[in-house]
Amino acid sequence: MKALVFHGTARFSWENIDDPSLPSPTDMIVRVATTTICGTDLHIIHGEVPDVAAGTVLGHEAVGEVVEVGSDVRTAKPGDRVLVSCITSCGRCGYCRVGTYSQCLGGGGWKLGNAVHGTQAEYVRVPFADTSTHVLPEEAANNEAILVSDVYPTAYEIGVLNGGVSPGDTVVIVGPGPIGLAALGAARLYSAGRVIVVGRSAPRLEVARRLGADAVVSHTENPEQLVREMTQSRGADVVIEAVGSAETFELCTRLVRPAGRIASIGVYGEPATLHLEELWNRNITITTGLVNTHSTPRLLSLLTARLLPVSELATHTFALPDITEAYDTFEKASENRAMKVLLNNPE
Ligand SMILES: [Zn+2]
Ligand SMILES: [Zn+2]
Repeated sequence: MKALVFHGTARFSWENIDDPSLPSPTDMIVRVATTTICGTDLHIIHGEVPDVAAGTVLGHEAVGEVVEVGSDVRTAKPGDRVLVSCITSCGRCGYCRVGTYSQCLGGGGWKLGNAVHGTQAEYVRVPFADTSTHVLPEEAANNEAILVSDVYPTAYEIGVLNGGVSPGDTVVIVGPGPIGLAALGAARLYSAGRVIVVGRSAPRLEVARRLGADAVVSHTENPEQLVREMTQSRGADVVIEAVGSAETFELCTRLVRPAGRIASIGVYGEPATLHLEELWNRNITITTGLVNTHSTPRLLSLLTARLLPVSELATHTFALPDITEAYDTFEKASENRAMKVLLNNPE
C-alpha cells in the first residue's frame, strides 16, 4: 500500500510500504476513506515531537471501511463504516475505566501516527479496535464525521468542558483555527452568553464572525480593552487557549476574570511564564489536556442531529495520493485561507 512516511525533520513522502497485518486479536484493519492533517502533524515534521521515529506513517484521524477484524473484535465487522478515534484506548486500565483514555496504561493513548503507523495511508491497523473506533450512522457523511475524530472532541472536552462553560458565560477563544472555531460551536451548545474570538489572521476572524462570534479582535488591537468593555471591567468567565504559545497563554491570564477559568488546548513547544505574582490572589483555574475522546458518542449524536456546526471547518479537499501538496497548503494555511484539509482515498 501507499502511505505518508515521516523520515525526520522536514522529510516525508508518499511511498510504498508493506500492507498492515493483524498481529493481535483485538486489532482491526480499516481501508481509509477520508483522513486529514492535524496541526500536531506539522509539529512532527518540524521536528518538535522527538518521540516520533523516522519510518512512522503519520496521521491520527480517519473514517473508513473495516476490511478485517481480529477474532476478539465484537463491535464491528468487515464492511462497516467506522470513525477511527485519534486516541487509542485499551478499555481496561484504571485510566480507561474512568474515561481518561489519553493516559491509558494498557498500550493506548495517542498512538496512531506517533508510536504506531497512522491514518495517512490507504490502510491502517487500529489497535484495541472495540474501544478505539465507532461504527458510523448512515447520516454522518465522511467529510463531516472526520471532524469528530480529533477536532471536535478536543474543542469540546479540553476547551468547553474543562472550561466549565455555563449558560450566559462570556467566553473568549484565543486562536481561530479549526479547533478554536469548533470550540466556538461547542460553547454555543452550552448557551454561552457572548463569545469573543481573538486571532492574528483576518480571514479566520471573518470565518469566526460568520460562525456566530459576537465580537472578533486581532491580537494587535488590544483584546484586553475590548473584553473589559464587554464585561463591565470584570474579564471573561472562560478563556479557551487554542494556539499553544507563551504569548497567547499569557494573554489568556490577562483576559480572565477573578475566579474565572482558563482552558488550555494548545500544543506547546516552548515554555510559557505563569505570572503567579499577579495571579495568586485571583482564584483562577487553569486546565490543560490531551483529548480523551470519551465524548465521541455524544458528538456523533449531535452531528447526526445537525446540532454540531461543521460548515467552514474544512476548506480544501485533495485526493490522498496528493497528500504532500495538502501538507503544503495546510502549512501555509493563512495565505491559502485553509482550515482543515481533507484527503479522500480514491475508490
Ligand atoms: Zn490532532
Ligand atoms: Zn487503558
